[in-house]
Amino acid sequence: MTGLQIVQIPVLSDNYVYLVHEPRDRLTGVVDPSLAEPVLETLDRQGWKLDYIINTHHHWDHTGGNVALKAETGAFIVGPQAEAQRIPLIDRALKEGERFRFGQAEAQILDIPGHTSGHIAYWFEPDDVLFCGDTLFSLGCGRLFEGTPAQMWNSLSKIRRLPDSTRVYCGHEYTEANGRFALTVEPENADLISMMARIRATRARGQPTVPSRLGDEKAANPFLRADKRELQAAIGMAGSDPVAVFARVRSQKDNFRG
Ligand code: ZN
Ligand code: FE
Repeated sequence: MTGLQIVQIPVLSDNYVYLVHEPRDRLTGVVDPSLAEPVLETLDRQGWKLDYIINTHHHWDHTGGNVALKAETGAFIVGPQAEAQRIPLIDRALKEGERFRFGQAEAQILDIPGHTSGHIAYWFEPDDVLFCGDTLFSLGCGRLFEGTPAQMWNSLSKIRRLPDSTRVYCGHEYTEANGRFALTVEPENADLISMMARIRATRARGQPTVPSRLGDEKAANPFLRADKRELQAAIGMAGSDPVAVFARVRSQKDNFRG
């Protein structure tokens, strides 16, 4: 544990931008800044100075603040190597196997393509923190804009191998709608039912459901469960290839109007 402090900034209709602060060396980063202004305001309120911009993938709602924030603060920008040409003003391109040192803290980089072709995650293992952009959502996963079901299933399986105690900081507050869909896939999943009850109560109070706990996602998120007997049986695909099961559930979600 390095005592990482995380401040969550809701922006646009449902994005989350995160300030990450390492208190010993007093370093601050921002993960996936959609916009500059709310980030600058929050930095000001915290009394922090921005050192790093940390991007998970190239979409504008995750990088839109790069240029203005760099102009304002001189922050150093890190992002995915495989999308380096699409990350505005990137200074250092990262890929799986590399580490991003952040003061006393350090993130391991995971390649998790599928939503975009070069999407990465930042795993701060000692702090149990994962920034996974639009790959894994609470009770959902990102749309396959640039990848195949096999790639996305492989990426999600990689995330599933991390400890249950990992806190999942994803890019959007989509949880309740994801959960409504998940219940159509596995209506009898007791973990999902109880998680959804907690989520509805949280949203009714106007509070964020993010971060979630990876252990809960493993038990309830249908996109992490394509190889589970219970899920396969629930959709009439017992014994099928997990990639085919994942692809079926993903396309059902694409067409879900709930
Ligand atoms: Zn995205
Ligand atoms: Fe996004």
